Amino acid sequence: MRVVVIGAGVVGVTTAYELARDGHEVVVIERGEAPGRETSWGNAGLIAPGHSYTWASPKAPAMLVKSLVSKDQALRFTPRLEFELYRWSLLFLRNCTAERARTNTLRKLALCTYSQGRLHELTAETGVAYDLISKGLLYCYRDRESFDAGVAHMGILQDAGRTMQVLDTDAVIALEPALAGARSLVAGAILCPDDESGDCSAFTAGVAEQLATRGVEFRYSTTAHAIVESSGRVQHVETSRGPVEGDAYVLCAGPWAAKLARGVGLRLPVYPIKGYSVTVPVIDAAAAPDVGGVDENKLVAWARFGDRIRLTSTAEFAGYDTTHEPSDFTVMLDTAKLLFGDACDWSQPTYWAGLRPMTPEGTPIIGAARQPNMWLNVGHGHMGWTMSCGSARLFADMFAGRATDIDVTGLTLASR
Ligand SMILES: Cc1cc2nc3c(=O)[nH]c(=O)nc-3n(C[C@H](O)[C@H](O)[C@H](O)COP(=O)(O)OP(=O)(O)OC[C@H]3O[C@@H](n4cnc5c(N)ncnc54)[C@H](O)[C@@H]3O)c2cc1C
Repeated sequence: MRVVVIGAGVVGVTTAYELARDGHEVVVIERGEAPGRETSWGNAGLIAPGHSYTWASPKAPAMLVKSLVSKDQALRFTPRLEFELYRWSLLFLRNCTAERARTNTLRKLALCTYSQGRLHELTAETGVAYDLISKGLLYCYRDRESFDAGVAHMGILQDAGRTMQVLDTDAVIALEPALAGARSLVAGAILCPDDESGDCSAFTAGVAEQLATRGVEFRYSTTAHAIVESSGRVQHVETSRGPVEGDAYVLCAGPWAAKLARGVGLRLPVYPIKGYSVTVPVIDAAAAPDVGGVDENKLVAWARFGDRIRLTSTAEFAGYDTTHEPSDFTVMLDTAKLLFGDACDWSQPTYWAGLRPMTPEGTPIIGAARQPNMWLNVGHGHMGWTMSCGSARLFADMFAGRATDIDVTGLTLASR
C-alpha cells in the first residue's frame, strides 16, 4: 500500500519506520527542510516512564488559577479569546478528578514502558546513535515536605511495576557527584534506575536518514495545506508543491494536527503548550551531570548530550507562538548554575521554544480517524520522545489489523 505520512517529527519518522518495515511504500511530507526540527528538536531528552504522571490531576485547577496572578515561570496561563483553548481547557478540567488522573497515568505508564522497549529494539535494528545515557533519572526535591509528597505520589507507578528508589542526599551525590556543590539544595530524590536520556532530534534524523536509503520518500520543504476528502475517503493531500496521493494517510503533525484535521471534519483535542529549552556547552566534563533529572521544586529538567547540557522548563498557553526572549530562560539558567556550578559555559546559551501537542488526558490519539483511509498518530504532549516508538508500533499493528501488544483503550479516537 502507498501510505502518505504528514509530519517528520519523531512520531512521523517512527511511524514511517514501522510502515516501511511492514512492506508499505511510504511518502513523508514535511514542511521543514529536515526531519525533527520542531517539537522533537529541543526537548529535554528524558526517556521517562518513571515520570508518567498526567498533568490533569486534582491539583491542576488550583495551579492554573494561581498562575493567573503569580509571575511563576513554570506555568503561564493567560486567558485569551479562543474557542479551541476553552474547549480544550474544559476537557482538561474534566480529567482532573482523582479517578481519571489515575486511569490516565496508568495508561501513560503502560505506553511509556512499552515504548522504551521498542526504542531499544529500534536502536539495535538501526544502530542510530543519539547520546543515549542509561543510568536512570533523578527526580530531586529541595525540602522534606515536597520530598515526602513526591514519595507518597510515586506509589501509583511503583505499584504498577516501575522500579523506583528513594535516595537521601548522600546517596544522590554518590550517584551523581556533579550535585556535590548543591548539597543544601537536595533533600533527597526519587531514582528511576530504568529511565534514560538521549537526543531526540539526533535519533529522528538518524532514523530518517536510514529510511531514505531504504526507499522511504521524504518530501521536505513541502507544506500540507489541506487533506482533501470526497465520497467519504481522503483523495489526496494538497501541498505547496502540488497534490500528493496515496492509498492511506497518517496525520503525524504534532501540535499542528488539529488544524489539518479540521479540514476533514475532525475536532482533535490537541492543543499547543509552549515550553522552553536552553542548551549550553560542557567545559568541565567531570563536573557535569551524566544522570539526567528534574528539579521538582523549580520544575527544571536537565539531560546531558555528549558535550552539551540541555535544560528545559515552562508550560505556557501562548497559542502557536514559538518566539522567546532571554528572560524566559532566567529560572532555568539560575537553577542549573546553582546545581552544577562551573561545569558549563553559561555565556554560550542556545535558546529554543517549542510546542507540546497536548491532549487533555495526556495520552496520544493513535489509530483510525473517521474516513476509512485516514489515520492518526498525534497528541504526545510532554512525553512524545518517550512514547514515540511504542505509539508507532501500536499504530502499525492497528493499521495492519493485527493484535496490539498492549491494551489501547483510551489511546484510540473511538475509546476516548
Ligand atoms: C520544552 C519541552 C520539553 C520536552 N521534554 C520531553 C522529554 O524530556 N521527554 C519526552 O518524552 N518528551 C518531551 N517533550 C515532548 C516531545 O518533544 C513531543 O511530544 C514530541 O517531540 C512530539 O513529536 P511529534 O512528531 O508529534 O511533533 P513534532 O516534532 O512537532 O513534529 C511534527 C512535524 O509535523 C510538521 N508539520 C506540521 N504541520 C505540517 C504541515 N501542514 N505540512 C507539513 N508538515 C507539517 C512539523 O514541521 C513537524 O516537523 C518535550 C517538549 C517540550 C516542548
